[in-house]
Parts: sequence; structure tokens; C-alpha cells
Amino acid sequence: MLTVHAYAATAATEPLTPTTVERRDVGPHDVLIEIKYCGICHSDISHARSEWGEQVYPIVPGHEIAGIVTEVGSEVARFAVGDRVGVGCMVESCRECESCLKGEEQYCLKGNTLTYGGVDKDGTITQGGYSTHVVVTEDFVVRIPEGIDLDEAAPLLCAGITTYSPLRRWGAGPGKKVAVIGLGGLGHMAVRLAHAMGAEVTVLSQSLKKMDDGLRLGADHYHATGDPATFEQLAGTFDLIVNTVSAKLDLDAYLGLLAVNGTLVNVGAPAEPLSLNVFSLILRGRSYAGSLIGGIRETQEMLDFCAEHGIGSEVEVIPAEKINEAYERVLASDVRYRFVIDTSTLA
Ligand code: NAP
Ligand code: ZN
Ligand code: ZN
Repeated sequence: MLTVHAYAATAATEPLTPTTVERRDVGPHDVLIEIKYCGICHSDISHARSEWGEQVYPIVPGHEIAGIVTEVGSEVARFAVGDRVGVGCMVESCRECESCLKGEEQYCLKGNTLTYGGVDKDGTITQGGYSTHVVVTEDFVVRIPEGIDLDEAAPLLCAGITTYSPLRRWGAGPGKKVAVIGLGGLGHMAVRLAHAMGAEVTVLSQSLKKMDDGLRLGADHYHATGDPATFEQLAGTFDLIVNTVSAKLDLDAYLGLLAVNGTLVNVGAPAEPLSLNVFSLILRGRSYAGSLIGGIRETQEMLDFCAEHGIGSEVEVIPAEKINEAYERVLASDVRYRFVIDTSTLA
């Protein structure tokens, strides 16, 4: 057992504080990873504050993990000490259901094990990446290609794959008009990825404050959703809209921006229900869909795609003592475009 430094939430209403957690001994199929950087996802805040259901405390959040392998189990074949690796939102699944066999462990029918707040094989609660080390079975570890710095790679493990997967599934590419709602952690990755896939990309942000950034990240167009004229001007335009917003939106207004047969896919996960008028869908054959992260194989594919296209996340690296301040800034939409914890500051 290894005792490691970490930062944890101890209650829904308390700030995160320094702590230690135990990591299991390295089993035959495990790798021990020295975490270098961990991204702060909006989901960390929702979990830490029990917004999606009561959490077991204390909880160490963090599922955008990038680091270096420092020990491997006797049976580990795919990784060696010194390898640059990542871990995302899952650390285990049943491996035998229809979803797992398809490589879609995120939809494991028996329920996968989340990187934090999940129940591990030994019955303990998993603890995440706001810590210095983690032990993970090799099948849930991915390789970070040379050419992507580890701090810029960390957010790819959630924000990257969560946007890459629906962009691929709904065919973002040349000749396709793709809109991204919300230019935060997921949104800025969606813009970079959709642009690299060859789509015509539009950002739909609350205001024009971040327009220069949006265009630099690869958007062709940028519109403020705070301006009602946007919804008239862009009516019936998009083949695909990716909604990354963490709050409730007027879905009918956004569905009206879809072309015939277009799809609006929700990756944003507000705690409260969203409602819609079915006529927003049926009169134009539109679809409304959801998508959860991506499988392990697709996560590796995404990392390789990012390396090939020179894509990382745009990050603001912070020391651990700024985690609570970063949470407040994320909640205020004041993130450009992902906070990443330098885990060397945890000790
Ligand atoms: P984030 O960095 O906070 O970005 C969300 C963006 O949404 C903000 O930057 C803001 O963009 C916009 N926004 C925020 N509040 C809004 C409001 N009231 N009305 C309109 N727009 C608003 O969060 P994130 O880390 O990207 O995560 C986004 C959501 O995806 C969260 O709900 C998270 O839990 C969820 N998530 C889902 C998955 C999945 O697998 N489906 C994976 C990871 C995260 P502008 O300033 O540009 O308007
Ligand atoms: Zn996440
Ligand atoms: Zn399964």
C-alpha cells in the first residue's frame, strides 16, 4: 500500500482541502503512475458538491490524468517504466457485456468503475487524480504520444474524448456545418477537433467576449446567444450541434438552428431536467441525442488524432492551493480554457 498526497472534498458545501489517500499494491496487471497533471472538469465540481446525487465523502476528484509509469506488474505487456500515459473517467468495467465487447466501456451494462467515487473490485471507493500517484489496471491506461505536452494532454482524457466521440459518431467533416454551444473546457476542444476534422465550425457563446479566442482555436464563425437575432439569422443552419453547457438551456431555440435531419447532441450534464416541444424535432426530422465520454480504444484513437494534428488543450496550470478558486472561476464561465493542477504542488 502506498500513501499519497491528495486534495479532497469532505462535504458538499466545504472547500477542498489537502489530505492523503491509500493506493493499492501493484497487482500483476496494474501500472503505478506518477501523476504530473490533472485537469479540472466541470463534472468534478458537480460530483464534489453532490449535484448529481449524494456522494460518499471524502472524495478526491480528477479524471483527466497525465503522468509517467513508475512501476508495472509482472504480467503487464503494453507499458514500461518511463512511459507517458493517461487515465480518464473509468478504471474498470465488466469486460464481457455487449458494450464492453464493442469497446464502449462507458456504456458497460453492468456499470463501469469511475475513476473517483466508484466502487473498486476490492469494495473500496475509488479516489481520483488530484493526487500524486494512482494504480490502474493496464487495460484502462492509454498512451500519450510524444509531441503533446503532459499538461496540455491531461484535459484530452475527458474534455477531448467527450467531444471527439460525438463528432465522429455524427460525421463531423468536410461539408458539414457544426456548432458548439459553450466555449469552456469541452467547448474549446470541440472547436479544435471539429476544425481538424474539416468541418465548418460555429461557436455559440453567451457573449462575444471570447470571440478572438474562438476564431484562433479554429472556429469559422462566432455568435452571441444573448442576442435574439442570432436565432433568426442561423435558423435551419447546422448538421450537428454539440451542447457543452452545464446549465439549463431553451432547447427549442437551439433545435431551431438545426437543418433538416440535423442532430443536437447533449454532452453538458445539468442537474435539472431539460424539456422540449416535440414539434421542434418532428417537423424537420431532427434528432436530440446524448453522449458519454468514449471507450478506451476510441480514447487512444483521439490522442493519436490530436498528436497528428498538433492539438492539445489550452490550459492554465495552477498549484493545488488554487483549486477552490479555480472551481469558482469555472462556475462563473471564467476559464480559458481548462484549469490543470500541477500535482508536484500537492506534497
Ligand atoms: P465549463 O468549462 O464550465 O464550460 C461550460 C460552458 O458552458 C461555459 O464556459 C459557458 O460558455 C457555458 N455556460 C455556462 N453556464 C451557462 C449558462 N447558464 N447558459 C449558457 N451557457 C452557459 O464546463 P466543462 O468542463 O466543459 O463541462 C461542460 C458540461 O459537460 C458539464 O455539465 C459537465 O459535467 C459535462 N460533462 C459531460 C461529459 C459527458 O461524458 N457527457 C463529460 C465531461 C463533462 P460560454 O461562456 O462560451 O457561454
Ligand atoms: Zn470530465
Ligand atoms: Zn460491461
